[in-house]
Order: sequence, then structure tokens, then C-alpha cells
Amino acid sequence: MTGFVPISRVEIDDATIEALVGVVRSGMLAQGPQVRRLEELFETIADTEHAVAVTSGTAALVLALQANGVGPGDEVITTPFTFVATLNAILACGAKALFVDIGDDFNMNAKLLEAAITERTRAILPVHLYGLPADMDELMPVARLQGITVIEDAAQAIGASVGSTPVGSFGTACFSLYATKNVTTGEGGVITTNSDEVARSARLLRNQGMVNRYEYEVVGFNHRMTDLQAVLGIRQLENLTSINDARRANAQTLTEGLDGIEGLWLPEVPLGRTHVFHQYTVRVTEDSRIPRDELAEELRSAGVGSGVYYPRPVFDYDVFRDHPGVIAGPVPNARQASDQVLSLPVHPSLTATELERVVAAVRGAMHA
Ligand SMILES: *Cc1c(COP(=O)(O)O)cnc(C)c1O
Repeated sequence: MTGFVPISRVEIDDATIEALVGVVRSGMLAQGPQVRRLEELFETIADTEHAVAVTSGTAALVLALQANGVGPGDEVITTPFTFVATLNAILACGAKALFVDIGDDFNMNAKLLEAAITERTRAILPVHLYGLPADMDELMPVARLQGITVIEDAAQAIGASVGSTPVGSFGTACFSLYATKNVTTGEGGVITTNSDEVARSARLLRNQGMVNRYEYEVVGFNHRMTDLQAVLGIRQLENLTSINDARRANAQTLTEGLDGIEGLWLPEVPLGRTHVFHQYTVRVTEDSRIPRDELAEELRSAGVGSGVYYPRPVFDYDVFRDHPGVIAGPVPNARQASDQVLSLPVHPSLTATELERVVAAVRGAMHA
């Protein structure tokens, strides 16, 4: 056995390192031409008029909500099965969060959306979890009919699409460039939109609310990305298709290797949606020979990393228990998923041997 197979691995090529040194030498260390180039690449990938780069995916969510006028007294409907940033962003705006349970695709169940809408609903915030787009074909008509803003949390789904429509172009969308994401700048985030107004507002909020030097239109903050960060992401964005193709090919290899194991559900891609496999996530059901957490333990002993994303519904923590902005209801499907999910390594730098080791370790642990 050689080395540990990690759940994620950062890959920065030599050309990027050279470009980074070039930025350092240029002396242009703050927001400049590299940030603008990164934004242009997002405009192409998401097929939108505008992209606005910021310091993190969380900042992107907060600014996207604020730029769409979400504030105190408003309700935002989201999914209970997501990273905490989604909920924190809603609360940071002073809005209230409501939760629509998930379907078999781990994403917001569109059939339950309409019943959750109230006269205070200002936005719906679906998350494209693991790189699989939410059921936008079903969600969008409901939102449109009720005149409600759609804000996509596309943090995990850069390059994914529904039919021929890329994620990021359904309303306002937020991407993350955190170290483990499909494309990374270390820390970073991007807002995409076709709305001139939303883009203008996000740019103002990013930069102290300033229109011209010392001319302030709104109360802002400093959410600017630096050229040092942006330059790290540019070549990855230029090569996004091959990065995501490699993830899809690895997912295919895992699915072929793991097919037919009792108590193990493999990820499925609903017709018409393109999955970019930020995570390859299986379900370990009651029929499995060993419980999920034991499987994870055995994989670790066999030198294979794995991860539970996420171990509880997002609001099921003491900090949110009596929070006035958190309106929690029963979410049986999210609860079951949080007990059953396990993500296996699927990143593009995996070798054929490493993929074989992942498959063999799972089969070994499950006696399959
Ligand atoms: C990573 C992530 C975020 C937050 O992004 P950061 O860049 O870490 O702030 C938000 N939502 C989801 C679903 C994420 O996976």
C-alpha cells in the first residue's frame, strides 16, 4: 500500500505559479486586471452579462441577497441539506430562513416549494449540491409565477448545466473558489447575473458603497478579491471542461466498480442535468453490512479518505436552535440523507491505481 488517497487535492500547474510570480513582480497586488480577467471567464462559463468577484463564496451569497433587496422582515426559502454558509448568509442579511426538504437528488424538492411560500418570501435559494444542479426546470416556473427572486448557491457546481442552460444564469448566482472546490483561488467567490442593476449594486457593496472616489451611494464594505488570488484561478477556468470531464470520468469508473453492492446507493444523474461531481456521494442504507461511520473508519484504515457532507440538517445546531431567523420544520429526507451519505475521492488528480484502491477498499469493507 502506498500513500493515502485524500478526499481532495489542490493542483496548481507551473504556468500558474509563473503567472503568480509575475503578479507579485508587477506590484499590482490588490484588485486589478487579473480579477477582471477572472470575471470575464465566469461571464463566459455561466453565460451571463456580469460577473463580480469577491473574497469568498459566503460573501458572494450575502452580496447577492443584498443586491436583490433582501433584508430584515424578508423570508428566504432554502434547502436544509447544505453547508452552513448558505444559512449564515441569509441571517447576515437580517432575513429569516425557511427550509424545503430535499428529494432523491439531495437537492430542494420542487414539489414542496409552493406550499412553503408566504407573502414575506423574497427569494428562493436552491443549492446545486455535490455539483448536481437542483431541479431548475421545476423550481423556476414556481418562482416566476409568484414573482420571487431566484439566487443559486452554485458554490459546488461550476460548469454544470440544466439542458443547455449553465448554472449561474437562472437569476443571480454565487460561486465559491475555496481550496477544495472544483476551481480554486484559495479563498474567493463570484456573483453572476444578467441584471445590470444587481451587478451594479454588488460592485458598490463590494467596494465601500463607493461610486467615485469619496462619493458613497450606499453603506458598503470591503469584499474585494486580489489579483494574487485571481491569477491562481485563471488557467483552471480556461481548462474547466477538462477538469470537470476528468471528475465525470472518475465518477463513471467508481460507479462501474461499485455497482451491485447490497446497501450501497450510487449517485444518479437525472435526465437533462449535467453533474460536475464536486463530490461523489453514496448512500449507505440499512441493508448495508456495516453502518456508514464504520465504513468510513475502515476506508481510513485502508488508506482511503472520505467525508460526510453533511452530518446534520443545516439548522440542527445549538447556535441556530432559538435563533429568531431560523424557521425550522420537519425535514425527514434531509435527516435520513445526513445519516447515510458518504463522499469518496473523485478529484481529477486521482490515478487509475488510486481509483482501483478506492473501489477495492469499499468492496473489502462491505464484504462485496
Ligand atoms: C463552499 C460553499 C459555500 C461557501 O463558500 P466559501 O468560499 O467557503 O465562503 C457556500 N455554499 C456551499 C454549498 C458551499 O459548498
